[in-house]
This record gives sequence, C-alpha cells and structure tokens, in this order.
Amino acid sequence: MKIDDLPIRAELRGQSPYGAPQLTVPVQLNTNENPYPLPEPLVARIAERVAEAARHLNRYPDRDAVELREGLAAYLTRTSGHPLTREQVWAANGSNEVIQQLLQTFGGPGRSALGFEPSYQMHELISRGTGTRWIAGPRRADFTIDLDAAVAALAEHRPDVLFVCSPNNPTGTAVAAETVLRLYEAAQAVKPVLVVVDEAYVEFSHRESLLGLLTGRPLLVVTRTMSKAFGAAGLRLGYLAADPAVVDAVQLVRLPYHLSAVTQATALACLEHTDTLLGYVQRLKQERDRVVGALRALGLEVTDSDSNFVQFGVFEDPQAVWRALLDHGVLVRNNGVPGRLRVTAGTPEENDAFLAAVATVIKEL
Ligand SMILES: *Cc1c(COP(=O)(O)O)cnc(C)c1O
Repeated sequence: MKIDDLPIRAELRGQSPYGAPQLTVPVQLNTNENPYPLPEPLVARIAERVAEAARHLNRYPDRDAVELREGLAAYLTRTSGHPLTREQVWAANGSNEVIQQLLQTFGGPGRSALGFEPSYQMHELISRGTGTRWIAGPRRADFTIDLDAAVAALAEHRPDVLFVCSPNNPTGTAVAAETVLRLYEAAQAVKPVLVVVDEAYVEFSHRESLLGLLTGRPLLVVTRTMSKAFGAAGLRLGYLAADPAVVDAVQLVRLPYHLSAVTQATALACLEHTDTLLGYVQRLKQERDRVVGALRALGLEVTDSDSNFVQFGVFEDPQAVWRALLDHGVLVRNNGVPGRLRVTAGTPEENDAFLAAVATVIKEL
C-alpha cells in the first residue's frame, strides 16, 4: 500500500516529511547543530540527575515542570536583564512542540498563520499539521522584512498567528525590535493576533533578545531552544516566554506528562552549566564571522548572519554545488532558496575543510 491509498487527511496528500538528509560524512555542517559535545563535568552531572530521576520513574513526572520552568526563567532573566517568572515560561520536547501547542491553541481549522519567506519551514509544516492555513508573506531581495509590504500582507490576509523568526533561518537575518513592535501593532489593528517570535538562534546574535517587549503585550510569545546554543539538540527541549495567560492557554492542548522526568533532569543539569555552554557560543560567533569573511574573499555573496550558520551564493545550480561539496566530504544544506546554500559554523578544523572545499568547487564548476 502507498500513502496515497490510505484515507489520510486531504491537506497531507502529496506532502513530504521535513528533514535534512542524515548522511555520515567527515564534515557535517547541514543542521545548525553545535559542533562541541557537552563538557565532561556536565555529562557527569546529567548522569547524577538522571540516576536520581530514575529512582522515581514508577511515577509520572512533574506535569507542570515547575523546577525546570523556574530554572529557564532564571536563565532568561539573567541573560536578558528582563525579570521573568516561571508563570511566564512553558517547556516542551523541542521548540517545535512548543510551536505545535501554540498552533493547536491559537490556529486550527478555519484559521491561518503567516510567516515571511524564506523562513523556517517547520512554521508552515506545523501549521498544516494542525489544520491551520499557511500564508507566505514577503521579504526583500536582501532577505530583510519590508515593513510596508508586511503590514499590507497582514491587512490583506488577516492571519490569526504571525511568525517572526529572528535571527531568521535559513538566511541568518535578525529583525530589529522596532520592526517587531510595528508588526505586533499592525497585526492587532485588525483583530487579536498571536505573534510568535522564534528566537532559536538569539544567543548567536549581536541584537538583544525581544523578551523585553513582552511587558504589556499579552499576545507576544518568544520561543527558545536548547538545540542550538546549548549544544543539546539530542535532548529535545524547547520553551517559550509569554504572558501567563498564554501559558495557561496551552495547557488546554498539551498532552499530560509530555515532558519526561529524564528530559527535565537533563535540562536542569544543562542549566547548571550555562556559563560553559555560552563560552562555546562566543567561539562559534568568531568562527561564523571568519567563515563570512573568507567566503566574501572568495567572491561569493554572503548574507549578514546573526546565527550559527551562513547563507552563501549566488550559484546558477546550488544543487550541483551542494553535490560537489558532498563529494569533498562536506555536507551543507540546500533549503531551496534560489541560488543559495547554507552552512553551519563548525569547529575551526571543520570550517577550514569547508572553505577549502568551496574554493576548489567554485574553480571546478
Ligand atoms: C533549529 C530550530 C528550532 C529548534 O527546534 P527544536 O525543536 O527546539 O530542536 C526552532 N526554530 C528554528 C528557526 C530553528 O532553526
């Protein structure tokens, strides 16, 4: 039997599952993971905390993840300078699950969500998966958000949910607080709209987090993750900060005990080692800037990046370049942005291998 022979929902017909190829090659720079494994003292602390959790695995975990949300609120408060409490924070298995819960609550059949493309493809896929109609909003040719065009799109389409990805994946572009404010106000002018700012990469940005905008804006949500800056993609821990009412609202759709005791224990251990982890972020930012400079020196067009990845081009046939780099043992990402590819900042050695491969490939082609 094929998928299309099954009585699946009409809007899922002909869709492809999300996912970058998981190929094993010497230099894997395609999924924006942190190249540094967790430090050994943290690995030991995780083992300790998980062992303690294991002693109680006959019981369901803390359904409200109180200790973890307390820790996440403290982390956000310390790094942003804006005081947040655990009532304003909610956590789930990756920020993708957080986004899914938001769309189950604020989107759904008969409702729509808008994002400015190219952007993180999961915003569209989770929208579709929750029966929320997806609307592709515009961006300028330099991948920044054109405020006038954006406001016009909001007025025309009247979405229920608005996504702003800052820094944006796959372009690396950060959005100014002023722009988000204007978008928030423009969105609310028509009807109440949930504005979700996806800050998965904000620790790598030279711009401040938008957490400071939450006060007085009950329909603004900031989502974060431990998958990138914290180097814990395998953990599956994402979270949001918003008005406590938004946190109460997602309780209506979250599965009971969705966040396992093992996950909560591991995430708490990671929070104890925040300073070491953020030290790696500093190194990666330097490496990212080095990659940007080196690619430009090769004559390539590189989008300014506030993330741990870099969008580069312009290639007549990006898929051919992607393939040629793979033949040199380097895996990057083709996100389907015309003429462009995306590379994750890796270790200095990985970046050297990538840059050497690019230099060879652009001569060959
Ligand atoms: C990687 C990424 C995420 C993280 O998703 P998790 O489910 O937390 O791993 C979220 N948003 C964007 C834009 C991303 O690139």
